[in-house]
Amino acid sequence: METIETDVVIIGGGPAGCSCALYTSRADLKTVILDKNPSVGALAITHQIANYPGVPTDISGEDLLQLMRDQAVQYGTDYRRAQVFGIDISGDWKTVFTPEGTFKGRALVVASGAMGRPASFKGEAEFLGRGVSYCATCDGAFYKSREVAVVGVNKEAIEEAQVLTKFASTVHWITSNDPKEEDHEAMELINKENVKHWSKTRLMKIQGTDAGVTGVALKNRSKEETQLLEVEGVFVYMSGSKPITDFLGDQIALKEDGGVVVDDFMATTSEGVWAIGDIRNTPFKQAVVAASDGCIAAMAIDRFLNSRKSIRVDWVHS
Ligand SMILES: Cc1cc2nc3c(=O)[nH]c(=O)nc-3n(C[C@H](O)[C@H](O)[C@H](O)COP(=O)(O)OP(=O)(O)OC[C@H]3O[C@@H](n4cnc5c(N)ncnc54)[C@H](O)[C@@H]3O)c2cc1C
Repeated sequence: METIETDVVIIGGGPAGCSCALYTSRADLKTVILDKNPSVGALAITHQIANYPGVPTDISGEDLLQLMRDQAVQYGTDYRRAQVFGIDISGDWKTVFTPEGTFKGRALVVASGAMGRPASFKGEAEFLGRGVSYCATCDGAFYKSREVAVVGVNKEAIEEAQVLTKFASTVHWITSNDPKEEDHEAMELINKENVKHWSKTRLMKIQGTDAGVTGVALKNRSKEETQLLEVEGVFVYMSGSKPITDFLGDQIALKEDGGVVVDDFMATTSEGVWAIGDIRNTPFKQAVVAASDGCIAAMAIDRFLNSRKSIRVDWVHS
């Protein structure tokens, strides 16, 4: 698998990650953004954003994010779709693991936002990594010719279920609120030969043995009794709001509320690692704040990597 060395690796392509990349790229630092999905972050799902300074008030979050991403790429950022599942920050090079390859950076920025969610289904936490997964691209191949369940109706659930149809014998798609008929991607998924849609159905429990998941208990809205479905994998895609830090392990200090601890320069307690945007879990979760965090971290990284004593402002171009 590919290993890529670069100056700055940024995990997350939301307003925090894209702004940081814009500044590091303009400071001539080779920068890679690893983004699991440009459509699922907090800004990407914002229907309309009217308070981002200088931008027309009727723009969608997704379109604003596209502008930010394009601007960073225009200055040299290498934007890649890849879901990060682990990091190793023990050495000078910070290593980031994804199914698409391994990335090594002299500086690492975590900007994965706060669209995570505490485990909420019975058995979800217990079987996480033993049949429960949040990443079909990472784990789909383990389920070749097996039956799996996908829970959730958002864009991410639909895209990830599509990935699983390439491996699993049957993908059971469980949705408590059904997708709209005009949602072409959802309809395309439902019409796949190896997809069974469990309409208006709630996941009640994930069950298994020491070896891992064996099935899920489901309840249809119109029925009294629950029903057991035998599956070996359960892929959960529900929205929520909790900093996404699962891939950090215990390598970076977190606050009690789950946000990453940073100083005034957005540096974490681990040298060479910064954290920006909603992942800090501050009370002021706004696109402009996330972008500001990205700028601060980028300038601090430029100082760190070039051993500068002071911050070099972006507008001195000589
Ligand atoms: C419904 C809603 C409406 C909002 N409305 C407004 C508003 O009107 N104005 C305003 O200023 N703010 C608004 N906000 C807040 C604003 O969207 C956020 O504060 C901002 O998007 C945070 O930016 P971020 O870059 O930290 O995170 P996000 O925008 O959430 O981006 C995080 C990115 O990280 C990626 N990611 C996550 N995990 C991984 C992983 N393991 N590997 C790789 N990539 C990963 C995600 O795919 C995503 O692209 C709203 C938020 C919500 C939820």
